[in-house]
Amino acid sequence: MISIKKLSKRYQTKDQVVQAVDDVSLEIEKGEIFGVIGYSGAGKSTFVRLLNRLEEPTSGEITLDQQSLTQLGKNDLRKKRQKIGMIFQHFNLLWSRTVYENIAFPLEIAGVDKQSSKEKVDELIELVGLKGRENSYPSQLSGGQKQRVGIARALANDPEVLLCDEATSALDPETTDDILDLLVSINKKLKLTIILITHEMHVIQKICHRVAVMEQGKVVEVGDVLEVFINP
Ligand code: ADP
Ligand code: ADP
Repeated sequence: MISIKKLSKRYQTKDQVVQAVDDVSLEIEKGEIFGVIGYSGAGKSTFVRLLNRLEEPTSGEITLDQQSLTQLGKNDLRKKRQKIGMIFQHFNLLWSRTVYENIAFPLEIAGVDKQSSKEKVDELIELVGLKGRENSYPSQLSGGQKQRVGIARALANDPEVLLCDEATSALDPETTDDILDLLVSINKKLKLTIILITHEMHVIQKICHRVAVMEQGKVVEVGDVLEVFINP
């Protein structure tokens, strides 16, 4: 479903060249929960940013459902990006808007009419378990609730893929488990492909089907979670 071929990203700064992602090739199946693990600086964030084209690759190719992401023009890219949801470590919510308005925001941008938007937002609020909090502001919510808003917002345009960049790293262990359970139930219910970037092994072990291990920009190992982490 997502095919990544020889993907590289090199940053050229004043005094050095950093090969942040180095010749990565991966196939990620539809409906799979795929983990990418590695230490800080391994290239994980750059990798996810390449996947939704927040960064331009230096070389290589990404295809999503047979369509090249790397060769899209501006307009097609905008449309395709709606099919890629993303959640973040620090939630990236709009702080002056309510829960409802945060979730409705991507629908507004996509030009969805008010009535359809309301139906969609109500459905999402139910899905992530935030009923009754529609009119709260992010500052009135716990970390776990903020991430639930982030997840609902990411799902607003019915994405094919959900990218999670250290999405539980700012949460306590119990809340982390709740959010991971929610991601699993969404994966099952919506048959949504999930790509999850983390430095935390237990996150991978709890919900991922397969995992890639990144070191210095390279994928040094890829396989079923049980094979990669349990067997010698
Ligand atoms: P991770 O998410 O695994 O911590 P990153 O993708 O953030 O890794 O970083 C990988 C490498 O690329 C690091 O050496 C980092 O310093 C470098 N890097 C990331 N973004 C930039 C940038 N915009 N300019 C220059 N170097 C960068
Ligand atoms: P808008 O006026 O469009 O509703 P906001 O003023 O709410 O936007 O927020 C603009 C950006 O600044 C958002 O991306 C939001 O995440 C960030 N932001 C605003 N307030 C805070 C805050 N207290 N802490 C962290 N980020 C914030």
